[in-house]
Amino acid sequence: MFELNKITRNNIERLKAYSSARDEFTAAKGIFLDANENPYGTMNRYPDPYQKELKEEITKINGIGANNIFIGNGSDEVIDLLFRIFCNPSIDKALTFAPTYGMYDVSAGINDVELIKVPLNDTFDIDFESVQSYLADPKLKLILICAPNNPTGNCPSPETVVRIIENFKGIVLIDEAYINFSAKQSFTNFIATYPNLIVSQTMSKAWGLAAARIGMSFGNSALIALLNKVKPPYNISALNQNAAIQAFKNSGEFLNQKERILVNKVKLYNALKNLGLVIRIYPPDTNFFLVECRDADKIYNALVDKNIIVRNRNNVLKNCIRITVGTANENQLLIDALKLI
Ligand SMILES: *Cc1c(COP(=O)(O)O)cnc(C)c1O
Repeated sequence: MFELNKITRNNIERLKAYSSARDEFTAAKGIFLDANENPYGTMNRYPDPYQKELKEEITKINGIGANNIFIGNGSDEVIDLLFRIFCNPSIDKALTFAPTYGMYDVSAGINDVELIKVPLNDTFDIDFESVQSYLADPKLKLILICAPNNPTGNCPSPETVVRIIENFKGIVLIDEAYINFSAKQSFTNFIATYPNLIVSQTMSKAWGLAAARIGMSFGNSALIALLNKVKPPYNISALNQNAAIQAFKNSGEFLNQKERILVNKVKLYNALKNLGLVIRIYPPDTNFFLVECRDADKIYNALVDKNIIVRNRNNVLKNCIRITVGTANENQLLIDALKLI
């Protein structure tokens, strides 16, 4: 059985959260002489520490209530908080599947936590057998699963992911940064079933708000309360909260852009697969392609010379580059450039 207090670090369990002026008095209107703010101006007040209005917009979209939502300063903040809440530095461990998103390793390193990297299989899926022996290790506190995965672009089989969640007494983070581009079901459907599951999404990709740093996580209310206890009190600026609220209120524009990206993606796929220097394109659930090519370093450098920047993944996956789907015009310029290499 999963017990949250058993796997939470003792110092976090004991911690009394900082109580801000806006925690202690929450009414929207009044004469506020409690937070040492400058009384003049339009940006003079601290933002809502719990982002209530933003959470209401999220609830309208996915039906998940405010007690089950945590907003981070990008998904990267959520990843870091999970290490800090559950993994004792230099004692506990975390686990992920390689190759995957580089921030897991960086965050583990910053927190002095060993990150076990279990290789994905030949089809970039997770073999349950490859992870099974680790699950009973009492020092293993956190498993990070990227679905759809960056840089491979595919989703691991949901049955295997569920099996991992069910057989693990620690926390499982499913990073769904690219879920909007995928036809696959979100794991947010499982947060009421599994108290050890946290699902992370972001406004940085499909929602077009990478500049605003808004990460959205969904989980059991006890887990969300822990994240709220440890986060910096005003972790999301009022500017960024407003940008996110406006984006949700204009969700028609989001759907429009997403459709355009998906149309561009099919066109780009068809053009890429006919090029001689392309060996293989992995079918993606994302807005990027992992492309295996004849000489990734050479192609990368030749594109940089033409001011076209792709991601060279040669050091992670031999001769692979990762290409983000751009505008129709950008994609055409890429294809024209590749034809001349
Ligand atoms: C881009 C990306 C993110 C986004 O992180 P933010 O901090 O929300 O911008 C998260 N996870 C993965 C796997 C990504 O590729």
